[in-house]
Amino acid sequence: MSEVQKHAFQAEVQQVLHLVIHSLYSHKEIFLRELISNASDACDKLRFEALANAELTASDSELRIEVEFDNEARTLTVRDNGIGMSSEEVVENLGTIARSGTKRFLEALSGDARADAHLIGQFGVGFYSGFIVADKLTVETRRADLPADQGVRWSSDGSGEFSVESIDRPQRGTAVILQLKEGEDEFLQNWRLRQLITRYSDHIAFPIRLPEEKAVESEDGDEEKAAEDQGKTETSWETVNHASALWTRPKSEISDEDYQGFYKHIHHGMDEALTWSHNRVEGNQSYTSLLYVPSKAPFDAMWSDRNERKGLKLYIRRVFIMDASEQLLPAYLRFIQGVVDSDDLPLNVSRELLQDNKLVSQIRAACVKRSLDLLDKLAVDDAAKFQQFSDSFGNVLKEGLGEDFSNRERIAKLLRFASTKGDGATKSVSLDQYVERMQSDQSAIYFVTADSYNAAKGSPQIEALKSQDVEVLLLFDRIDEWMVSYLHEYGGKPLRHVAKGEFDGASSEDKAEEISEEHKPVVDRLTELLKERVKAVRPSKRLVDSPACLVLDEHAMALHMQRLMKEAGHEIPADLPVLEINPNHALLKRFANADQEQASDLALLLHEQAVVAEGGQLDDPAAFVQRLNRVLTSTAQAA
Ligand code: ADP
Repeated sequence: MSEVQKHAFQAEVQQVLHLVIHSLYSHKEIFLRELISNASDACDKLRFEALANAELTASDSELRIEVEFDNEARTLTVRDNGIGMSSEEVVENLGTIARSGTKRFLEALSGDARADAHLIGQFGVGFYSGFIVADKLTVETRRADLPADQGVRWSSDGSGEFSVESIDRPQRGTAVILQLKEGEDEFLQNWRLRQLITRYSDHIAFPIRLPEEKAVESEDGDEEKAAEDQGKTETSWETVNHASALWTRPKSEISDEDYQGFYKHIHHGMDEALTWSHNRVEGNQSYTSLLYVPSKAPFDAMWSDRNERKGLKLYIRRVFIMDASEQLLPAYLRFIQGVVDSDDLPLNVSRELLQDNKLVSQIRAACVKRSLDLLDKLAVDDAAKFQQFSDSFGNVLKEGLGEDFSNRERIAKLLRFASTKGDGATKSVSLDQYVERMQSDQSAIYFVTADSYNAAKGSPQIEALKSQDVEVLLLFDRIDEWMVSYLHEYGGKPLRHVAKGEFDGASSEDKAEEISEEHKPVVDRLTELLKERVKAVRPSKRLVDSPACLVLDEHAMALHMQRLMKEAGHEIPADLPVLEINPNHALLKRFANADQEQASDLALLLHEQAVVAEGGQLDDPAAFVQRLNRVLTSTAQAA
């Protein structure tokens, strides 16, 4: 007899458990789908390992999932003959939460039960959902490549501890036994289980079986006797799902619900996909692809980490081989989830082989095209859903401008931005929309970059454009500065940063003027006073209300980017900006007539306020405050 070992759950598990049990009660039936989903994954894994070691499935080759209940003991069992787990795996998989997303998920929790229930809906709760309906869970399992005496029994009542002991288990695979709570008897009924399986798990590629319900025909009505007889015979099973891989079925026979159910299974979450595309290709090679656009970024790190991506599963002739998102999609489409099933790749394909395989690169090109087509269609068909996509993944898509030159125009078309004519900070304006409402003599698409929406919207550099009713795109995501270095034109119109380069006015008719005699003395005086801070001073055509602003060279890095780079420890070559002034502003008029001491204060203040307006930090804030106070008091005395 082996001894029973007690273990404590990892602290995070307890938190998740608590949450699952309390926030998901209104959807309690999801536990069955989750357990069946795990069983299906276990069958997939075994089938893959059996490619290299046929012994594993030799004695029992039909992979399947069985759902069984016992009315008297009030237990429900979900059993598979898949890969199973070793005792280390049991402790690791069922006692800790290894997924990197969990921590971020837990951090995102608000403590508000309703909001959290919504969050957990995106997260996918897996195995622990059993505790919604069960007082106690017992798992009996044996890894397919271990002998019968290396079975394991895990059990827990979900309150902080679990126990593990070794058992004899002749059959491989896993059984999860739920001791149902008082009042959960609905899960002890054949019809109810059948209903749940056909509703939520029909797409599972392995047969899911229930004990056959025999219509007991007994002439003398002795049902008890008939039932007894039935008990003596071996259970006969009935398959209740389609039991064929969803993507192999004809589209016409698959409902939207089926597609969504399958999506939940493959991405281990509960939120729905926005849209999908299902295609069969026959020709010099044959394959099927089923691609989904998710509605929300998952909690996993995969969005921030371009190198560790997941989501597109490669099957070869119905056998799950590996997650091959990296091989089948470029990084900027890493949000796409789904399945590719190839008829032609060799079953023993390795990651290395996938890297430079001609068939794979054809599939990859097709997946890119299909994904972009799918997004185009979504943009046309459903603005609200497309907005949701944009909010979740717009910034990932922007990477494509630098990554996929051949599709640059298509990608740009799919991007959405905030603008001076848009809906607040919501990124909803497309470049097509912008171009369509450009003024007839407008020569460029204007944008400004900043580190927040408010900073972009309040940029002094866009004042003149705004007053002429010229639209300006407001870019305030970190990636934008990088993005615009790849987006020089759209629809034949150049893109122009309003705070860079010379600006002669929005109209193609406008011409740069020489600095007039009238303004020259002010410009010269300022240039002298600010020569250590700015490269030049010139009258501006950008300004209306503000007295001054900073402007960079056409190709210089935006000031907020320079700050970010410096914070990250990069050396930035010193490149002084130009100070543009609004000579008609009262402050400049005052400057023109000021004595030497006041002129110096005013000049420095003009520069400093331009720095602040642009979101920058002052070198010497105390000196700025003193200057400001000197000027304010002298104004007060003059008044
Ligand atoms: P997830 O499936 O989302 O990873 P779960 O909490 O449902 O999270 O399961 C944790 C892990 O336990 C799984 O990743 C898997 O390794 C293992 N597991 C769960 N159920 C089974 C099963 N029926 N057979 C084999 N392994 C399983």
